[in-house]
Amino acid sequence: MELTTETEELEKKEIARRYRALLKVSNNVKTRKDKARVRKAFDLALEAHKDMRRKSGEPYIYHPIEVARIVAEEIGLGTTSIICALLHDTVEDTDLTLDDVERMFGPKERVIIDGLTKISGVVDFTASMQAENFRKILLTLSDDVRVILIKLADRLHNMRTLDSMPRNKQLKIASETVFLFAPLAHRLGLYAIKTELEDLALKYTEPDVYEEISSKLKKTKAVRTRFVNRFSLPIQEELARQGVEFEMKARTKSIYSIFNKMRKKNIPFEEIYDVFAIRIIIDAKPEKEKAECWNAYSVVTDFYQPNPDRLRDWLSTPKANGYESLHTTVMSPGGRWVEVQIRSKRMDEIAEKGYAAHWKYKEGSSENNFDNWINKIRDLLENPEENAIEFIDDFKLNLFAEEIFIFTPKGEIKNLPKGASALDFAFEIHTEVGAHCMGAKVNTKLVPLSTELKSGDQVEIITSKKQKPNESWLDYVITGKAKSKIKASLREDKKRLAEEGEKKFGKWLKKHEIRKTQHNIKELQTLFRQPSPLEMYYKFEINQIPLKKVEQLEIIKGKIVGKVQETKEVNEIQERLKQKNPAEEMLVIGEEMDHFEYKLAPCCNPIPGDEVFGFITINEGIKIHKTNCPNAIQLMSHYAYRIVKARWTSQQKIAFLAGIKVTGIDDVGLVNNITRLISGELNVNMRSISFDSEDGVFDGTIMVYVHDTKHLTRLIDKLKSVDGVINVSRIEG
Ligand code: MN
Repeated sequence: MELTTETEELEKKEIARRYRALLKVSNNVKTRKDKARVRKAFDLALEAHKDMRRKSGEPYIYHPIEVARIVAEEIGLGTTSIICALLHDTVEDTDLTLDDVERMFGPKERVIIDGLTKISGVVDFTASMQAENFRKILLTLSDDVRVILIKLADRLHNMRTLDSMPRNKQLKIASETVFLFAPLAHRLGLYAIKTELEDLALKYTEPDVYEEISSKLKKTKAVRTRFVNRFSLPIQEELARQGVEFEMKARTKSIYSIFNKMRKKNIPFEEIYDVFAIRIIIDAKPEKEKAECWNAYSVVTDFYQPNPDRLRDWLSTPKANGYESLHTTVMSPGGRWVEVQIRSKRMDEIAEKGYAAHWKYKEGSSENNFDNWINKIRDLLENPEENAIEFIDDFKLNLFAEEIFIFTPKGEIKNLPKGASALDFAFEIHTEVGAHCMGAKVNTKLVPLSTELKSGDQVEIITSKKQKPNESWLDYVITGKAKSKIKASLREDKKRLAEEGEKKFGKWLKKHEIRKTQHNIKELQTLFRQPSPLEMYYKFEINQIPLKKVEQLEIIKGKIVGKVQETKEVNEIQERLKQKNPAEEMLVIGEEMDHFEYKLAPCCNPIPGDEVFGFITINEGIKIHKTNCPNAIQLMSHYAYRIVKARWTSQQKIAFLAGIKVTGIDDVGLVNNITRLISGELNVNMRSISFDSEDGVFDGTIMVYVHDTKHLTRLIDKLKSVDGVINVSRIEG
């Protein structure tokens, strides 16, 4: 697009205005040197992005300026972070290199920008890719937490400007935001950002619900305000009379959390009683803030009856993400429960902006909690054997969990997720304590190690040198730490037992006059149906091998010669194949129907043209799998002797079932066009078709009968040319 000089001038002015606005909120940029560095970063970013525009058509530089503003104003970070936010997209998208950054700014800036570049902006939508990206994000945590904070600011601005993206991208970015970034913001204590991310995501994933809730909130606002004013008045008067400096306001629940509650409890908007909470924020000196909060509590409960079950004291024991506050729920004169949150100004700032804001208050005691959290993540990351998805599952469990507080015998406090057991607590204290845990005393009473703990319990762990983890322990624990330590110990155990077992197995072989050769071990594996020698030795050690079966073997001079029953069957089929087809010794699918019993594996639905192999099953004849079927690798590695080669016959007389996935933008008559194309023009038989359409985006699954892959590819190509169709692919596995 050609720009006139006039709009160019206007844009220049707008860029300068936005930059000034950034400086205005950058309270932590104080010295002249810092100001010059920020200016340098801005000039550099401006130059690097000068020919780039955002999807909305705006100059690209608006984005880094805005991310820097969020970092400075909404998270409260300083010069280094502002510089990195301004430069966050330069190394990835322009000619600027990390060396340039280090030379011009320094090593810290290099590390942070490097971290930001490693985490890709929008990941592919498969769960494992997301999990891997999430893992990467967490790994950068151990470098510098500012990477995550800037990444969150980046995501927040992208969510705020999501309107100009195409619909499918909107959905992708929004769901990733809920899956990954909102929980992270929550865990870092960035409450305001977490809430906004969730609300924005809902706006794009469920626009109708979002609209409904926000309009109902607007409609009920006047009534709410009147109620809040009447409720607050006596409290305000009394606090003012005592000379307390305070602010009182009503906080409405986020649209997302109202939506969540409606869905979880299956109730309409009108039945949610805690749409808002009253917040009292006290301006008190750090040494007095706790006493002042309890004083306010006393004033509130002088006027309104509190619910004793709903008192939450996060003053004495802050949450692991640093949240400090005093919550109570009281009965209003209208007969309705109202939540009141009492906290100091400092606590409020931490609650809204997170730890970053808190770094300003060095003397704060909860800083340790943050370190604890980072340490826990490091613990989890230590275990590289776990796959990414399992890792994320364990980790997310800990991210979302509510917390309980448990006391050690010496009165120390440990945070654990709700649902944690005595065994979790033991591992929380120390790996060795966990590994030797026999049971526990909860509030001086002896209980089994599987006992679920409650907040406030005092727990003493009883250990024994003889005790060690076993398989069932995995059912008793919920923390990632305990899980990964138990799994590691079980693996160790198995290895040790297998070593023991191998020695004894050697003796057993001798007794039966079988030599320990590779051939014999393979035969025995087949006989005992064990996937690996290690597994066989282990099972031998724990007496889970049906040793009597050895009688079926024919042994000559220490060598196993007679085949086992199962192997006999396999051999028989192989033999028949050889006779039928001496040239190739393979199964020709479509020709030998009468001679061999075989089926197409439902896990990968192979069709002619696919590369395939046959697998001789125990009771169901031969099963045909695609060579890239996820099950294939396992089958081939464990049961190589049961694999038969297979190919398709060249005669196309049969039709095969295949699945096709279609996504696109819905349009009147689109489904019609697709079905007409399939059954009419291409003369393909359709078995089933199902479409999910939501807000103009449809997701379709079509099952069709085709002759071979060529036929299928032709069909897919045709479908791609239908107006409104975005993506067509074969359903694999
Ligand atoms: Mn960006």
